[in-house]
Amino acid sequence: MVAIGVPDAGDDGRTAAGRVLTLLHRRGPLTRAAVTAELGLAASAVGTALADLTALDLVRIGDPHGAPAGRGRPSPVVEVHPDGPVAVAVQLSADRVTVSLAGLDRRIIHVRQHVLDGSATDPATLIPALADAIADAVLQTERRCVGVCVATPGFIRESDGFVRSALHLGWNDVPLAQRLAGMSPHGLPVAVGRAATLAALAEFRYGAGRGTASMLALTSERVGVGGGFIDAGIPLTGGGHALEAGHIIVEPGGLPCPCGARGCLEMYADSRALLRAAGRRPHPGREDTVTEIFDDAAAGDRAAQNAIRRTAGHLVTGLTSLVNTLAPERVVLMGFLAHLYRAAEDFVRDGLTASSSVARAGQIDVVTGDLHHATLVGAAERAFAPLLRQPRTALRTGPS
Ligand SMILES: [Zn+2]
Repeated sequence: MVAIGVPDAGDDGRTAAGRVLTLLHRRGPLTRAAVTAELGLAASAVGTALADLTALDLVRIGDPHGAPAGRGRPSPVVEVHPDGPVAVAVQLSADRVTVSLAGLDRRIIHVRQHVLDGSATDPATLIPALADAIADAVLQTERRCVGVCVATPGFIRESDGFVRSALHLGWNDVPLAQRLAGMSPHGLPVAVGRAATLAALAEFRYGAGRGTASMLALTSERVGVGGGFIDAGIPLTGGGHALEAGHIIVEPGGLPCPCGARGCLEMYADSRALLRAAGRRPHPGREDTVTEIFDDAAAGDRAAQNAIRRTAGHLVTGLTSLVNTLAPERVVLMGFLAHLYRAAEDFVRDGLTASSSVARAGQIDVVTGDLHHATLVGAAERAFAPLLRQPRTALRTGPS
């Protein structure tokens, strides 16, 4: 069991002010007494940290409330400052870019989507356009901006934001963070994170994964399938490419995948696969063809129901391997896979129970994601990480 408010093993190097700010960011407003109790710090250390954080306009100390009258001095409520800094959270997908701002209160605001046509995914075109969209986002607010994180699908070296490979964008060896930082007029620090890991982290901390010790997340943004595994608050990264769940082979010798293998899960369990299974083509310029399949199935259309079962069957095959390997306490399905699961919940649950002895032994919970913008929330977590670790240092060394 991992409490989201308590700084975990990934929080090394966090100052007392960083621990207080992290707690308020993750948990929302708390009384000063609750902050002291949660962190196990001396009241004087919390007092010093709060004085620091209010001087930096990161935290606001409100009026005491909720304390019964006549029983000593009530503890004031403290919270992240509503006009405190923002981060730019960006989600890069195969067919669109989503740019937003996020506050320390975890609200995602100013969401803008830019649909990409085929040629627009060339790094020479896309990176300058991305830099412009980030600069526009920063101009949407008077609040100070402390950093950017671009959630990117594919094989990412997160230490320097280097994209080794993003199959659906056709990218190989792109120094994305370095190029974006060079184009940023504000001198903002730029991080690049693996999209599926960031989405999983967000659901683990704030959504469908809360209260679990370990969580496997599978996500699909129309094209491709990504995976993330969080154990005791820490994402499994391996050498940086762990959990390429979309490339688990579910049909040996099957359809060729852009990764070079044949029969990968994402060729059989994303929205393109459902369209193919249903024998339907997407309407040009419209995204509702997949929704129509779910609607038709719900209305009793046998062909649509069969297409959903076929696609969900491949999801079960992929999940069986993942669950048998990782034994998560909970599986969270997101994006298209959440829709697929809702349309075939019993089929997926029964299929997993029948095919996975680990699922049978562990009574693994399968649920859909809770957060509307999980990937953006996860990107904001990454962008805010230096500030949450050492607030004063991050503001001193950050952009002016
Ligand atoms: Zn593949």
